[in-house]
Amino acid sequence: MKRIFFFLLGLLLLPSLSAAQRPNILFVFTDDHAAHAISAYGSKINTTPHMDRLAKEGMLFEKCYVSNSICGPSRAVILTGKYNHLNGYFRNGLTFDGAQMTFPKLLGKAGYATAMIGKWHLKSTPTGFDYFDVLVGQGPYYNPPMKTTNADGNVVTVKHTGYTTDIITDKALAWLKNDRDTSKPFMLMYQHKAPHRNWQPGPKYLNMFDGETIPEPETLWDDYEGRTSAAHKQAMTVARHLSPNDLKLNAGPNNLNAAQKKIWDAAYGPKNEAFRKANLQGRELVKWKYQRYIKDYLRCVQSVDDNLGRVLDYLDASGLAKNTIVIYSSDQGWYLGDHGWYDKRWMYEESLIMPLLVRWPDVIKPGSRNTDIVSNLDFAETFLDIAGVKIPAAMQGHSILPLLKGRTPKDWRTHFYYHYYEFPGAHSVARHYGVTNGRHKLIYFYQNDEWELFDLGKDPNELTSVYGNSDYKKVQSDLLAQLKRLRAQYKVPEQDPVPPPRKPRPKKK
Ligand code: CA
Repeated sequence: MKRIFFFLLGLLLLPSLSAAQRPNILFVFTDDHAAHAISAYGSKINTTPHMDRLAKEGMLFEKCYVSNSICGPSRAVILTGKYNHLNGYFRNGLTFDGAQMTFPKLLGKAGYATAMIGKWHLKSTPTGFDYFDVLVGQGPYYNPPMKTTNADGNVVTVKHTGYTTDIITDKALAWLKNDRDTSKPFMLMYQHKAPHRNWQPGPKYLNMFDGETIPEPETLWDDYEGRTSAAHKQAMTVARHLSPNDLKLNAGPNNLNAAQKKIWDAAYGPKNEAFRKANLQGRELVKWKYQRYIKDYLRCVQSVDDNLGRVLDYLDASGLAKNTIVIYSSDQGWYLGDHGWYDKRWMYEESLIMPLLVRWPDVIKPGSRNTDIVSNLDFAETFLDIAGVKIPAAMQGHSILPLLKGRTPKDWRTHFYYHYYEFPGAHSVARHYGVTNGRHKLIYFYQNDEWELFDLGKDPNELTSVYGNSDYKKVQSDLLAQLKRLRAQYKVPEQDPVPPPRKPRPKKK
């Protein structure tokens, strides 16, 4: 009798137990954070102890490639598991079609509590989350208005006071501690604005690196010889394209309150005074611009790292850490003065590589590194797989779950397809698509009908294209065949998608 009782009790408990055991997913996401500004990735210019902790306790991916190196499109790929020509968001400034299938919707259906907190950047109001609280558009670094739903279910915009990186973290912690349905596993997208342009540090770090010289990248003085016309015609150089606003040579952010303004001016006032007195010219001026730019960028990163630490501490203290997968990534890579640039967009390594760190206690071997080619195209599939949810056939990536367990499938991808569309557009980077196998890379600037081929083994900085070089005849024809194969496999149309016509603005009376 006793045995039957416990058997029946077991049957009753079984479904709820297995549901409780499904892991929580904490997706930590930043904007424009280059892997080479994370010490676990070998940064020579900063230290990021909390990101490093994820690498030490989890897995670091060396080759996580973004399919289109720009903000909104990368986010749309992550939500849908599809390339941009299929999810409709192929360049910034469009409106994401929130009616389409996304992984948060599927996780919600499968019994996950879901939330999106921080930078959304897809114009349309987030769909498919139990809770959202998002920056409006790009959002400012200080005192951000944020969009959420009030008790009546109406979307409202609420203004906040403080540093945005801290505020987004406060909100993420509040949801984890107080607001989520604790009977369910959770999936939280905790997404920062930082370290996006124009790199406004928080009050704590306005003077970090003062008096120090950050090492310059090897290619700061790149002259673009050895590449096609595209690299010559861009508009993203540290030397010529950073604005006084970017360089903090103007009056500072216009939305600071009096107390914030005082701290800001106390930090930049004396530095700017010294700069004006020095009257730098030529190369010395470019060196100064690099220092100002990179220090502000890294100051913003430091606040992200601090805040990640707060969240990791909470996971430890609450006991959630053990059954929570923590993912750290950023929407694309970024130029830290490499090739003389800031910004992203190119298929070159610095902007192609996304940081990807994953910690999952008892599943991932601590301190492991993976060199397989993975992508933001795989994130949705991975999250669904982790939760035991069926991956829709229309999604185009692959779950990296086997990789996390240290077992790469024999048929894992060997080649990766890339496509950038935003020309004409900011920073004047020509449209291009291409293919890479991690060692060689073929890029086609199709508006210019110009090709580049790089041998990353011999030329890791991608300074000299070997396209048309007879030594690379076989490599070139193999990559071309792979490019054709992938374009067919992913159903890339011959003609680029066209943005919908803009609605005329209502005339002012
Ligand atoms: Ca971005």
